[in-house]
Amino acid sequence: DELVSQIAAGEVVERPASVVRELVDNALDAGAGQITVRLLAGGVRSILVEDDGCGIPPEELPLALRRHATSKIRDLHELESVATMGFRGEALAAIASVSDLSIASRCEGAAHGHRLDARTGELSPSARARGTSIEVRELFFSTPARRKFLKSDATELAHCVESVRRHALVRPDVGFAIWHEGRLAAQWKRASPQQRIADVLGEDFIEGSRPLAAEAGPLRLVGRVGLPDLARARGDQQYVYVNGRYVRDRQVAHGARSAYDDVLHGNRQPAYVLMIEIDPLRVDVNVHPTKIEVRFRDGREVHQAVRRAVIAALAVSRA
Ligand code: ADP
Ligand code: MG
Repeated sequence: DELVSQIAAGEVVERPASVVRELVDNALDAGAGQITVRLLAGGVRSILVEDDGCGIPPEELPLALRRHATSKIRDLHELESVATMGFRGEALAAIASVSDLSIASRCEGAAHGHRLDARTGELSPSARARGTSIEVRELFFSTPARRKFLKSDATELAHCVESVRRHALVRPDVGFAIWHEGRLAAQWKRASPQQRIADVLGEDFIEGSRPLAAEAGPLRLVGRVGLPDLARARGDQQYVYVNGRYVRDRQVAHGARSAYDDVLHGNRQPAYVLMIEIDPLRVDVNVHPTKIEVRFRDGREVHQAVRRAVIAALAVSRA
């Protein structure tokens, strides 16, 4: 089972940023209002993600590390329409198989917290407030071939920050902080959706973009699309979310790009933040363990909706 987990880890865990993404996903699932990420050496030496969410009862701590153990799917119908971010209990088991992992957690009403060391299985009392802290040390220490593929600490840190940025854009109701080597690397306090975009991507992103909002059949779209100046500066900043989950999708990208080209005769990638809400039964999120790809039941419908929304947003700005 250890080997199976390590193979699964190859799919889920590519670098420290993948660990950060999974741990922040879990913290959000737990209803956290504040999430703090502490990194050492770009996350390679240590990743600590602290939240103030619901916590894990001590008897469930060992379960959290077991493969396919998830507290988030109650029946098969839910599996079809997973509204939470998790990929069916793979992440923690996979991460634990390629690192030195420990969990400390305390639930509401518990007299104190508990800490579980994944390697030794030792469960000990821990003094802490409500919530969960998961610490991942020495990523890939047992798989030196994988560790060799990691880049410089600065590069790994940048990927970790980008991973939190993706969550932060879509969850303005949650506060985020990232510390590296004891220094604050980034911090986003709770804010309105628009203010959060400004905080994360800069005031110039707001100034250089137009709001977008549309409803098309089973879809709802909100976000911002950048004007040409922003495309020049930030054309690589394309954030697409489906039901709160960061994704990359060729049809969405093409819908936005073709609309931008048609209205502004641009020849660059536009910058945008695009949040799509869709009936969960019309999208399959379990295409890949990293969850970055989705499969729409009707891709053309989504393509058209995105295209029309972007055209409408840009046409207004030219009038
Ligand atoms: P999944 O998120 O798909 O359920 P994970 O392997 O990421 O699978 O996590 C396994 C389980 O551990 C979760 O289902 C949840 O019960 C528990 N868990 C993990 N992280 C947290 C957290 N920060 N707060 C509360 N529970 C957590
Ligand atoms: Mg998870």
